[in-house]
Amino acid sequence: MKVYADNAASTKIDDEVLSIMDEGNEHYGNPSCVHSMGKKSKELIETAREQIAKSIGAKPNEIIFTSGGTESNNLAIQGFVEANSNRGYHIITTSIEHASVLNPLKYLQYNGYEVTFLPVNNEGLIDVRQLRRAIRKNTILISIMFANNEIGTLQPIKEIGSISKQYNICFHTDAVQVFGHCKINVNELDIDMMSISGHKFYAPKGIGILYARNDLNLFPIIYGGGQEFNLRSGTENVNSIIGMGKAVELLNKTEKDNNAAHLLILKNKLIDGISAKISNVKFNGSMEYSIPSIVNVSFKGVDGISLVDMLDAKGIYVSSGSACASSHLKPSHVLSAIGLNDNLAYGSLRFSFGKYNTEDDVNYILDVLPGLVEKLREQSR
Ligand SMILES: *Cc1c(COP(=O)(O)O)cnc(C)c1O
Repeated sequence: MKVYADNAASTKIDDEVLSIMDEGNEHYGNPSCVHSMGKKSKELIETAREQIAKSIGAKPNEIIFTSGGTESNNLAIQGFVEANSNRGYHIITTSIEHASVLNPLKYLQYNGYEVTFLPVNNEGLIDVRQLRRAIRKNTILISIMFANNEIGTLQPIKEIGSISKQYNICFHTDAVQVFGHCKINVNELDIDMMSISGHKFYAPKGIGILYARNDLNLFPIIYGGGQEFNLRSGTENVNSIIGMGKAVELLNKTEKDNNAAHLLILKNKLIDGISAKISNVKFNGSMEYSIPSIVNVSFKGVDGISLVDMLDAKGIYVSSGSACASSHLKPSHVLSAIGLNDNLAYGSLRFSFGKYNTEDDVNYILDVLPGLVEKLREQSR
């Protein structure tokens, strides 16, 4: 049996998405060209843009196509800060952001900007009172992720949005882990900029979106022919844009609610099963404020990387800590931030479900996992 439970790292492209991308192959005209083939490509892009805009309550000219979540985060942060440096040089974020937010901010810090990294509690939640206290006269940007990619914790986005609005500070959120599972309306949540990545919701890798409110002042980070409202030069990735438009359409076709309910069933089943069958475990994140797709769990006295390998040999694919942190020998910055000691952090696994997972998948995991944990514990004794 093969169980792919690493959907927070990447998802399988939906067949309907693939087939519409195949059709897209026929329309290979450059969208910047004035002939009818170019116009057709342009038209396909604009249809996808409208679809996506509508799904989050935005206007089409507020949707910028990028190469993915990483570029969207970089454009939001660097593009905004550079265009607004005359207003201030202080930025607020959290200690548990994705590397594609943390590292652009570290780069800005190196260049003289001041960055406050808000701590989180042991469930991974920020304290909004601390956020208020961190705000200064020269704060220009708040960048806080919607949900964390390692532990699934959802931040109080609506409150953060209204605080940002109250102080007239731009609010950016990395919504990469949320977009495929929950309805998001950028107006209701007072979100000014939002990053989305195609390959986290059954569209291809290498395509993403930055939503940016159209009255924001933003500089590009890539200069060239002026595509994407001058904010992201380079010939558009037409096929992937069409595919992503289709993926959004599929999410909106009732799938989103049903899928979240489906994921929650799998998540609870896994948590209940692990709790019943394995001793000395700790579930990481928040039981109350969490996306339905992620289960992060620490097994005391177990090496997570070895466990990932042993599960792999049984056809089960998961991450230890987070996909990006797996190759490093340091414990994940997120698990450290929620106060996990190194021992528990090294023994943590992230299961992340998607729409193709079934209850049988969870049953198979629950059949295999207890024995492997036991084996590793015996070896380390
Ligand atoms: C995957 C991910 C990203 C990066 O997206 P890419 O499209 O892979 O560059 C950014 N933020 C979060 C929270 C993610 O999970």
